[in-house]
Amino acid sequence: MMDISIVIPLFNEEESLPELLAWIERVVNTNQLTYEVILIDDGSTDESWSVIEKLRMANSNIKAIKFQRNYGKSAALNEGFKAAQGVVVITMDADMQDSPDEIPELRKMILEGNFDIVSGWKKKRYDNTFTKNIPSKLFNAAARKMSKIQLNDFNCGLKAYKLKVVKCIEVYGEMHRYVPVLAKWAGFKKIGEKVVEHRARKYGVTKFGWERFVNGFLDLLTIFFVGKFGKRPMHFFGLWGTLSFSFGLLIFSYLTVSKFFFDVTGMTQRPLFFFAILAMIIGTQLFLAGFIGELISRNSAERNNYLIEKKSGL
Ligand code: UDP
Ligand code: MG
Repeated sequence: MMDISIVIPLFNEEESLPELLAWIERVVNTNQLTYEVILIDDGSTDESWSVIEKLRMANSNIKAIKFQRNYGKSAALNEGFKAAQGVVVITMDADMQDSPDEIPELRKMILEGNFDIVSGWKKKRYDNTFTKNIPSKLFNAAARKMSKIQLNDFNCGLKAYKLKVVKCIEVYGEMHRYVPVLAKWAGFKKIGEKVVEHRARKYGVTKFGWERFVNGFLDLLTIFFVGKFGKRPMHFFGLWGTLSFSFGLLIFSYLTVSKFFFDVTGMTQRPLFFFAILAMIIGTQLFLAGFIGELISRNSAERNNYLIEKKSGL
């Protein structure tokens, strides 16, 4: 079997590609590895694709996929993962901010350390302090707390995986930031980290603007929620809906009793009255959301897709 697959998503990186590929080739040849490089052109509008075709003519280990339009880094990774065949799969950015020199060591950690994933950690970063470094610290703290995975740098483009891991997970939206979380939900627990060299961007510009923070955070919530309640929405919505409704009902009974038996006049003048109504309406809505969610998940085509690790006697 092939030693490594190197999966590289790219969007308008024409200047970097030749240098990057030459560097990768140098590293794999010194280490005598059999390899493939899978380039996913995420709808580039520059000359990236013709650069790729030129590179392919000189080296048949290079394979490439071109999207019709820009779908995003997650989509590109997902397609790359589908195509990968190597025992170890490495992902890296195309802009040469990640160093191919890290490949042999990452591979060694997967094979000898028996890690399912090894994630790079850009301990010393060469990006803008205010737009990148500080926000990313906050993000990583939130992601650590929600996922209980002790990584310092979830979003590092340079990562290594066992082949099986990438075949078991589906990356979409902006979820490339949380691939370790997806892997954990799929049952891969041994997640390691390696400090990697990070470099300043040499050519081109960053492809992620300020929306990265909003989208990234919402996706974290989605991952958390889908992982925990995706197959049983009623356990979340039903619980809170019922609680809220009962609370409202309780207040209502109190108001009714005090009006008819203790003659406290003006039920609708009391603030509690409106609070009770609000609680009951919210409760009903939550309950309905849960019920509808439950119906949808029961009808989904994937409802009985479980990842089976082993079978014997079957
Ligand atoms: N990328 C991509 N599709 C996109 C945006 C980015 O394939 O829609 C690629 C990009 O070409 C690069 C990697 O994802 O190889 C990381 O992007 P970038 O370097 O812009 O992110 P940053 O390092 O600034 O976080
Ligand atoms: Mg970059």
